[in-house]
Amino acid sequence: MRITIQLTTKPEVAADPNEIKRLAAGEANVELARVSHVEVLKRSIDARSREPKVLLKVELFVDESPPAPQLIFRHYPPVNDANRVLIVGAGPAGLFAALRLIELGVKPVILERGKDVRARRRDLALINREGIVNPDSNYAFGEGGAGTYSDGKLYTRSDKRGNIQRILETFVEFGAPRDILVDAHPHIGTNKLPQIIVSMRERILHAGGEIHFNRRVTDIEIKNGALAGVRDQHEDYHEAKALILATGHSARDIFELLQRKKISIEAKPFALGVRIEHPQSLIDEMQYHCAERGPFLPPASYSFVEQMEDRGVYSFCMCPGGVIAPCATLQEEIVTNGWSPSKRNNPFANSGVVVSVELSDLKQFEAHEELAAMRFQESVEHAAWVAGGNTQRAPAQRLIDFVEGRTSSDVPVTSYTPGVVSADLNSVLPPFVAERLREGLRAYGKKRRGYYTNEAVLVAPESRTSSPVRIPRDKLTLMHPQVSGLFPSGEGAGYAGGIVSAAMDGERVAEACARLMH
Ligand SMILES: Cc1cc2nc3c(=O)[nH]c(=O)nc-3n(C[C@H](O)[C@H](O)[C@H](O)COP(=O)(O)OP(=O)(O)OC[C@H]3O[C@@H](n4cnc5c(N)ncnc54)[C@H](O)[C@@H]3O)c2cc1C
Repeated sequence: MRITIQLTTKPEVAADPNEIKRLAAGEANVELARVSHVEVLKRSIDARSREPKVLLKVELFVDESPPAPQLIFRHYPPVNDANRVLIVGAGPAGLFAALRLIELGVKPVILERGKDVRARRRDLALINREGIVNPDSNYAFGEGGAGTYSDGKLYTRSDKRGNIQRILETFVEFGAPRDILVDAHPHIGTNKLPQIIVSMRERILHAGGEIHFNRRVTDIEIKNGALAGVRDQHEDYHEAKALILATGHSARDIFELLQRKKISIEAKPFALGVRIEHPQSLIDEMQYHCAERGPFLPPASYSFVEQMEDRGVYSFCMCPGGVIAPCATLQEEIVTNGWSPSKRNNPFANSGVVVSVELSDLKQFEAHEELAAMRFQESVEHAAWVAGGNTQRAPAQRLIDFVEGRTSSDVPVTSYTPGVVSADLNSVLPPFVAERLREGLRAYGKKRRGYYTNEAVLVAPESRTSSPVRIPRDKLTLMHPQVSGLFPSGEGAGYAGGIVSAAMDGERVAEACARLMH
């Protein structure tokens, strides 16, 4: 017999399988000796009351053997001689598209502008230590895309876009901890992601797929309204009947190429703001209502949405125990984002805080037409570079100083390794963003004691929240309406926001592509 129940318990009990079993047997009114196994199905933390609790959904196995460990193995048949599909970009969308194509008996050939995860690490060290940005190998570009050195939070609300569970299971198959199948807010951590990406690469190659690094696509050839092939920076031509374009939201050269080629694209609203960093201990105290969170609670996180005039001001991609990362893809710009290791054991908590940008805000950039939002994004990132003294050091301001319009006489130590420079963020952010940010931060600070403090620092800008461009596609065929065989996919095309939704979109496009190839 199997019984499923909900438990609400103390963190120390939730951390001990024997205690969970004892508690579950008691709650289900079953003798402990009859329970062979208790499987945790879901786990979340409820910090609303003074004492945080862990909520567990568990399944008891009563008078029957425990289940055999469930191994998730998908079948990836050899595709060496199968029809081939070109994929540009080896981010989550491109890699999951490749794996799905193999499952469906199609050979993926990936062209990636960056390097493999190992070689890429050296370029990240260069940005962090010397502020030098390699435009083809950085936090956004290279094997695994922006996903490899990301935070690896796998929580998404996009359940209508595909099968979230399938994506999580695929991550587990390639080495992610099984906890991600259970936790309400699954997280892998930056230290574990690269090996998962390597395992995916090995499986793709083993099945007969191909991955070519240092291949930046620079041209797309179209004949009679159908895709013919692409050219890379070495002038090599790659013929293709079908191409999945999964180049991410930072591939500005691809958007420019599409505009030049008169392949229709559209400007798209996105969000802009700052990274805010607090000491983690302060966020723990604010969320858990205690001076020390102890060994059984994870570093606390928060999220908020405040409505300011007609716009949302909201937190984005919170990284408890994390680090603010320098995510520029060109030298003369500053871009911030955040990551954390699997243990989330850094002393800082950072989060994006952003304001939605509508196309109606961008009158000044109208002449750029489809690229208006991208040019605006570029201009803010460049202004931050100038404010930071023409280096990768980012402009920063203490929280209360920013809200009250004072320049900070100094800024606290931050986790942003290239360093920060005290600056007035009003010289970086446009007034319609800065004003709403001020109001939004003040409003949230009133609700959460401890948040509104000059110990917190804002680092600017958080600007790559989603793509500033959409590449249109037909709802049924998922192909570009003007170019048969061209399948835009992932975050850069405007169909995803985050790792899981990009992966789901990659799979969906692969399925549409495979239908065309068979
Ligand atoms: C530091 C950081 C932390 C993040 N944390 C999280 C998180 O916790 N959770 C989450 O869900 N999301 C997170 N994200 C966002 C997430 O990584 C992206 O949403 C996701 O990677 C998008 O996937 P994608 O495949 O669509 O595009 P990308 O991952 O951007 O991949 C695009 C790929 O295309 C390649 N490419 C670009 N142009 C060309 C060209 N011309 N020729 C050949 N190749 C090209 C790039 O090199 C890249 O590898 C984070 C991002 C960063 C930078």
